[in-house]
Parts: sequence; C-alpha cells; structure tokens
Amino acid sequence: MGHARTGLANLGWNGFFEQAFAALGTEGLSLARVVREERERYLVCGELGEMVAEVPGRFRYEATDESRFPAVGDWVAVKPLSSDQALITAVLPRRSAISRKVAGDKTSEQVLAANVDTVLLVAGLDQEFNPRRIERYVAAMRQSGAAPVIVLNKTDLCPDLAARVAELRAVAVGISVHPVSALEEKGLDALHEYLRAAETIAFIGSSGVGKSTIINRLLGTERQQTGAVSVVGKGQHITSRRELMLMPAGGLLIDTPGMRELQLWGEEADVNRAFEDIEELSRACRFRDCRHGDEPGCAVRAALKVGDLAPERFRNYCKLQREALLLAQRQKLVEMKAKRRKEEETREPD
Ligand code: GDP
Ligand code: ZN
Repeated sequence: MGHARTGLANLGWNGFFEQAFAALGTEGLSLARVVREERERYLVCGELGEMVAEVPGRFRYEATDESRFPAVGDWVAVKPLSSDQALITAVLPRRSAISRKVAGDKTSEQVLAANVDTVLLVAGLDQEFNPRRIERYVAAMRQSGAAPVIVLNKTDLCPDLAARVAELRAVAVGISVHPVSALEEKGLDALHEYLRAAETIAFIGSSGVGKSTIINRLLGTERQQTGAVSVVGKGQHITSRRELMLMPAGGLLIDTPGMRELQLWGEEADVNRAFEDIEELSRACRFRDCRHGDEPGCAVRAALKVGDLAPERFRNYCKLQREALLLAQRQKLVEMKAKRRKEEETREPD
C-alpha cells in the first residue's frame, strides 16, 4: 500500500477509485484512464504513460451488456504487453455514467462518458431552441450521477434572453443556467468554474449548438492564462471522436460529438425527478395513483385548466413516462430471454 500513484491524481484518480481498485485484489496491474475509444481499441493514459489497449476475447464473451465495455473516462486495470500496448483486465466501478439507449431497436445501454463530475448540457438560442428537448436531456442526466448544468449558447442571436432563461429555469428546477456566446466570447468565464483541477466535465447537446466552439474557446483562454500546453490525446484540435482532454489549467474535459439521437435511458422515477412541479401537483390529486386522465379531484388537470401548468410540458411528461415504461418492459423481456438461454445452456444433456 502507500503506492504513490504519480500523475494519476491529475487524471482524476481519488479515494473512490483507490478503494474500488483495492477491492479487485489484483497485484501487478497498472492503472490508466480511457482517453479515446475507437472500435474496441482504446487509447489509455496512466501509470505507464499512453498506451493502446484492447479487451481480451473472453471479455467480449462475458460482457452481457454493452455498458460493461470500457468507455471514455473509465478507469481500467491494464497488463502491459509491450512498451505501448496493453490488455485491459478490468473496468473499475463508475462514479457516474452518461448513457443513452443504443441507436435503433436494440435495448442496450451505451455509455458515452464515465466518471464525469459535471455535465454541461449545451443548447443554442437560435431557431432550434426547444425547451422540450432540453427537458429530455435534463431527465436523462439527472440519473447519470454527474451534476448537470445548462449552457445556453448563441446569446448574440437572441433578442429576448431574459424570457428564454426564465422559461428554462422553470423547466430545469435547481439547475444552473449559464447564458454564453462562444462567438462573442461572452459569459465563458462562468464555465471555467467547472474546470477545477482533477475534475472531469463533459459537454453534451445536439450537433450544431456550439459545443466545439465553446471547447476551443475554453482551451484557448486556458492556454493564454497558464501558458502551459499539456494536452492528452492531441486535443488541440477537436476531432469527431469522443475523447478526454487534459486542460492546460488542470481540469479534464470529455467531448461527446455527434449526438443527434438521445433516447432516454432511465427509469420512471428519474423522469419524475425532472418534473418535480408536476409531482408536487399530483400529491394533491385525490387518488394516490392518479394518472391525471379523467379521475375526479385531479390537481394536475386543475392546474392545466387555470394555466398554472403548460400543456406542452404536461404532454412531454406523459410522453417520457410512456417511453420509460416501454423501456422497462423491454429490459424485462431481454432479461427473461437471457435467463432462459442460461437455463438451457446449463441443463444437463440426457
Ligand atoms: P457543435 O456541433 O455543437 O460542436 O457546434 P459547433 O461548435 O460546430 O457550432 C455550430 C455552428 O454554430 C458553427 O457555425 C459555429 O460558428 C456557430 N456558433 C457557435 N457558437 C456560436 C455563438 O455563440 N453564436 C453564433 N451566432 N454562432 C455560434
Ligand atoms: Zn391527477
């Protein structure tokens, strides 16, 4: 014990992971963090410097779920094969995970970024501005384990900023909203607050909202402030891959480009948490299991009637709840199938 994990603290290593690693009980392994992912090959950075790592074949066989595979931001235990190649023998438990349902019909969780402290959801104040979509992202992020923050970019295009911010604050109760203009370099100072040394932040949001522009600005100003250039994964220019970057002033940043489709990954309870106002209202419904349809004494419908609750917010709430329910049913089905398959496999041949 007392192993001096030189350089790992800079990458976000802390007591949580130290404990998790100790619990693995694996002597002789090195630690590294996944910096980039490319078709099941991983660029990792850690005690042995930068290495290209792969998961062993058995991993592929045993991993029942896509989410078990290493993701950008994960801490992994590696066994070196050469000076710059390694085998990933374990993925350490995650403190947080930003996930989505994999694109298409497959019911599987895909981790976009792991061990993120703060997730910055970026939305643009242009014609694409859509509080309903932001609600979806907020709902998905509430259960990630990372603290969500909203960045409203392109304030230069918005004539009624105060109204928009107020609209969002009503939707995202208790979440900081930062209006910025990456183009005019306004409001970005507030974002530096989240780039504390050894802490990991991630940007998510639909493409075109300005994530790359913001990140490039942050990189630029940090470099000017510190004069240092120590960037992991050649992050100076933003690529189209998911990647973890070490910022000049010490914070860590994960970029998750190209997210057009964010399908909800979570449970009904998470949706409820994103709609605390509606949950609050429904506590006043006469029936505890009120579905806010045509039940008598429904406080939610009453609020809709007098205009205390926006109908589109209520519709979105219903839609997300249906989606979460459907996903739960599909997960159950997948689990049942897997169980049956296992039973068949372990059955003794006669
Ligand atoms: P990403 O897909 O989220 O990474 O978005 P980009 O950073 O590539 O930006 C998409 C477009 O929005 C580009 O044409 C940017 O120049 C533009 N853009 C980014 N930030 C701002 C801003 O603050 N104001 C305006 N007007 N345009 C911006
Ligand atoms: Zn009701």
